[in-house]
Amino acid sequence: MKKRGLSVKHVEEIKELLLANKQKIESVLERINGEYESLSEMDLNDEADFAAASRDYVTDVNIQKQQMAELAAINRALAKIASGAYDGLCEMCDSEITLARLRVKPHAVYCIDCRTYMDNKK
Ligand SMILES: [Zn+2]
Repeated sequence: MKKRGLSVKHVEEIKELLLANKQKIESVLERINGEYESLSEMDLNDEADFAAASRDYVTDVNIQKQQMAELAAINRALAKIASGAYDGLCEMCDSEITLARLRVKPHAVYCIDCRTYMDNKK
């Protein structure tokens, strides 16, 4: 019987992608943190300056939230790979997540059908 899920070779490929994404996200988060520091050091006497700065801040906070959620998902996938439990199967319906999808979003835990279903439910 053929084992379901990703082959060892493909798991390796997904792992590489996860690690690359992780690095990318960490550098984005670092940049945002750096901006926070410079923001508090800035002299924002001008109301317009302040409005612009807080607008950027809100955008950054949203990016940061989204990136941190993605980082958590990536770490979860990496931990699963490390423990040998990673199979690339959907956590909802247990069908295989296509390799094409994993290449775009290596930390995906749901197949496209389940993802679409959940997005529509919101
Ligand atoms: Zn599914």
